[in-house]
Amino acid sequence: MSKLNLNKTWNYAAATESTNHILLKEKYDLFINGEFVKSNSKKYFDTINPATDEVIAKISEANKKDIDLAVKSAKIAFRSWSKLKAKERGKYIFRIARMIQERAKEFAVIESMDGGKPIRESRDVDIPLAANHFFYYAGWADKLEYAFPNKIPKPLGVAGQIIPWNFPLLMAAWKIAPAIACGNTVVLKPAETTSLTALKLAEIIQESGLPKGVVNIVTGAGNTGAEIVNHPDIDKIAFTGSTNVGKLIQKSISGTKKKSTLELGGKGANIIFEDAAIDQAVEGIVNAIFFNQGHVCCAGSRLFVQESVANIVIEKLKDRMSSLIVGNPLDKNTDIGAINSKEQLATINKYIKIGQEEGGEIYQSKCSISKKGNWCPPTLFLNVSQSHTIVQEEIFGPVLAIQTFRTIDEVIEKANNTPFGLSAGVWTEKGSKIFKLTQELNAGVVWANTYNKFDPTSPFGGFKESGFGREGGLHGLKAYLKFE
Ligand code: NDP
Repeated sequence: MSKLNLNKTWNYAAATESTNHILLKEKYDLFINGEFVKSNSKKYFDTINPATDEVIAKISEANKKDIDLAVKSAKIAFRSWSKLKAKERGKYIFRIARMIQERAKEFAVIESMDGGKPIRESRDVDIPLAANHFFYYAGWADKLEYAFPNKIPKPLGVAGQIIPWNFPLLMAAWKIAPAIACGNTVVLKPAETTSLTALKLAEIIQESGLPKGVVNIVTGAGNTGAEIVNHPDIDKIAFTGSTNVGKLIQKSISGTKKKSTLELGGKGANIIFEDAAIDQAVEGIVNAIFFNQGHVCCAGSRLFVQESVANIVIEKLKDRMSSLIVGNPLDKNTDIGAINSKEQLATINKYIKIGQEEGGEIYQSKCSISKKGNWCPPTLFLNVSQSHTIVQEEIFGPVLAIQTFRTIDEVIEKANNTPFGLSAGVWTEKGSKIFKLTQELNAGVVWANTYNKFDPTSPFGGFKESGFGREGGLHGLKAYLKFE
């Protein structure tokens, strides 16, 4: 097999995206009732560039009183927003989508600075998809009766929405767009480490003329999220984050009338059959686990390769890993950017250590990484089995656990042997195998001969400990409606 050896034969000149056009304030306040207002806590926390350890801006910490103000403003706004002609609601959402597109470059650079993801990904995936979600749900706003024939769809009220740090603007779009298209109003909390693009979105929302109070964006840590969950005037909780916090939320709202959707963690199985197009499958493995540094709930973090092709797949994968460029997220050559936070890097390193202690054989590609910032080279483990910790638990980093299989029934059993049920991938040239696996794998999404493909028209969500409820498509509307 010929080696790629790209690192040895090529040296890419840096192609760093400029930050000159970025408008960032020193301090960001809360966005409540259409205005940026100071928090009652008077506290701010730093948001840090994970590639340089530099402070980018200060973010306000919302307390109980702030959440109460935000929920009150959403509740008042609900009275008129829910009665506004649906066509008018759609126009506002369409305008927000256009404004995101107009400022796409600024958003992409800020997303990469604040979260560490490669600019190629924030530019080509996160920001366009976020705009697409607003476009898609703008279209549905005045067609809800067609979406659900013979039913009278009504909005739920005030939605409390809590999102994680891995796709900050995209997650905000997933939450806000369907909620307001259906006539609800929202209080959204971004993750502590990546609040900036949600706050920039607040600027767009203000400029768009969206009626005050329809969207409120409050920043802070887990306590702020808990205040939203526990507020008595919240009608619906939409949460994306870890399974542990999802369980806490479910406990807090049990016995209340609050509706909920929980999008939680995952441990996706990526399955390569011997009849697959091997080179494409290897690209698919790379995309499944190393996209966004592996900070992806549906990452293909468990690889299952049919025994007859295991050696060639692993050899080609190692070869491809050695060509991945780890480094400055703002450089357009970069494949793998910075790990989102020191805490997350410590978690990933803890799992790498456990993997070795439990007898896994580690392979990491060589890469020179800066002393500043948080980095993890692409990593794979061989000689692991179903009971290994790194096979069972979500790592949320660029770490792949590889196992082999002989028969289709064996791989289905192995793939389903996990507490999670969010995603899976299948690589084969046989349609019949694809149909069998899509029916028998316990996963909300199964990709065939591709991986990590997202589209606003397609529902996304999990089974088992990966949560319940769907986002995207018609299913995503349902989560924000009640029917008469
Ligand atoms: P967390 O669950 O820790 O945090 C998610 C959000 O909840 C953050 O905004 C966080 O605030 C907030 N939060 C933390 N504690 C509480 C609480 N007690 N009550 C209410 N809100 C709280 O997850 P991470 O941010 O670490 O994200 C990683 C996890 O998210 C992974 O497990 C991943 O699989 C999952 N995820 C799932 C997705 C899906 O669609 N299924 C998509 C993306 C991620 P703060 O950040 O400030 O602590």
